[in-house]
Amino acid sequence: MLDAKRIKSAIDPRVFYQNRVNQLGTPNTDGWADGGLCLWHGDKRPGSFKINVNTGHCHCFSCGAHGDIIDFAMQQDGTGFSETLKNLANEYGIQSDISLKARQQAKERALLVKAAQFEEALLHD
Ligand SMILES: [Zn+2]
Repeated sequence: MLDAKRIKSAIDPRVFYQNRVNQLGTPNTDGWADGGLCLWHGDKRPGSFKINVNTGHCHCFSCGAHGDIIDFAMQQDGTGFSETLKNLANEYGIQSDISLKARQQAKERALLVKAAQFEEALLHD
């Protein structure tokens, strides 16, 4: 299972927002930048939607919507929570803990098989 925490720790919010917001402003010392138009209300002019490129949080001072990079991706892509996690994992090459573990186990199994074959070859020579 992919969990949101893992996704959030693996994605640099600065890179994430640079990829997705073409009107991203210059961040201030706290990391807050103009985020262009708010995705949550029918925003017509930029200025009220802020993004923090350090923490990944976003906040709209006009409609009060706020969230993190996952909420942002869900809203921008129109996808559900688990689908969004899956898409982000694909986009940023993040593997779930389980698939890492499975791959490790498969590698170990392959080594064991190879060792057994080698042993057998020795015995039969
Ligand atoms: Zn808004």
